[in-house]
Amino acid sequence: MNIHEYQAKMLLAREGVTIPQGEVASTPEQAKAIAEKLAGNGHKRFVLKSQIHAGGRGKGTFKNGWQGGVRIVSSPAEVFDSAAKMLGQILVTRQTGPEGRLVSKLLIDGAPEIRKELYLSILLDRASSRPLVMASTEGGMDIEEVAAKTPDKISKEWIDPALGMMPFQARKLASALELKPELINPAVKLLTGIYNTWWKCDASLVEINPLCIVGAPNGKEELMAVDAKVALDDNALYRHKELAEMRDLNEEAPLETEASKFNLNYIKLDGNIACLVNGAGLAMATMDVIQHYGGTPANFLDVGGGASQEQVAAAFRIILADRNVRAILVNIFGGIMQCDIIAAGIVAAIQETQLKLPLVVRLEGNNVELGKKILANSGMPIISAGSMADAAEKVVKAIRV
Ligand code: ADP
Ligand code: MG
Repeated sequence: MNIHEYQAKMLLAREGVTIPQGEVASTPEQAKAIAEKLAGNGHKRFVLKSQIHAGGRGKGTFKNGWQGGVRIVSSPAEVFDSAAKMLGQILVTRQTGPEGRLVSKLLIDGAPEIRKELYLSILLDRASSRPLVMASTEGGMDIEEVAAKTPDKISKEWIDPALGMMPFQARKLASALELKPELINPAVKLLTGIYNTWWKCDASLVEINPLCIVGAPNGKEELMAVDAKVALDDNALYRHKELAEMRDLNEEAPLETEASKFNLNYIKLDGNIACLVNGAGLAMATMDVIQHYGGTPANFLDVGGGASQEQVAAAFRIILADRNVRAILVNIFGGIMQCDIIAAGIVAAIQETQLKLPLVVRLEGNNVELGKKILANSGMPIISAGSMADAAEKVVKAIRV
């Protein structure tokens, strides 16, 4: 699950990470009031930041032609004017796709004087099963591009999860960021705070791009997390009620939201063969086999190890809401669940949705014979398949006729 920048910054601030002063607004009046408060605290420049779950906002364009999803202005009156042009508008960035995202909230931050933009992120490195911290002097830009063109500019530090981030590791990262000696200790504090945020929230990613060296009011310099992206591990949300409440359903694909209500793991894809499978590994293998036979999957859908009849029915409704779908492949291995229950669920779902599309079913495992009998006796035009390959071949053929 992704959260907004303003929420991510709140979590970071709790762990002692310095962030720009600011608040979130949903009307131009609120935006102006926040800017006036910031002005009262000595701020002279203000930044309006579109709160959408996608990056690249700075270089984005609104569908009304207004340039930039992140804007810097120098008075509360200008904050009001810009907010009026940004709120309620659709912002398109390289991460939103051409359809863009509706901006209904703005983060109004004080804009410090940025001297240098750096990059920092923490993610889970699956190869080593450890948190991995990546730091680069090339902040503010597309990190994928830095990784592709100048990989030596990204320093990596693997953390022992039992020990947490050790001060020497934070110092090593700080020196890779080429910080002045007086910023090394603040950097250790900041890096530790960012790591603790990642750890305590069960985050899958914390990315600060840019992490900035800014001019402080006392004439010195300080480090500040000017942008923040936090992605949380869905599987750990049950133990973070407060974080789960940060979910913004407006930012999620409607079908995926509907699927999550039924505990279904559904990801929409661009193809036209829908799949309904139990188990993530089998679901991925099914997608591969469909591709192998020349088809393209319309979705990933894992109904879980022990799906109920209601879940199967919901799965059919969700699959069929995708207008690209031209055939369905059900691939079930009855290890935990019983094939006859799935078969009954499929028959009920076909009736409920008045299915007109070709449906290929491959069942294997517990009570498979009974399951097959239920499908055969249903009187419905279900195409039965013996193996995964057979099923994929049949479903690809079905959309060609
Ligand atoms: P995105 O990554 O979606 O483009 P950022 O938050 O990184 O959004 O903003 C883009 C750029 O805008 C930053 O690289 C920075 O130069 C500038 N910026 C963002 N927030 C502030 C701020 N509070 N003060 C000054 N400049 C900012
Ligand atoms: Mg950014």
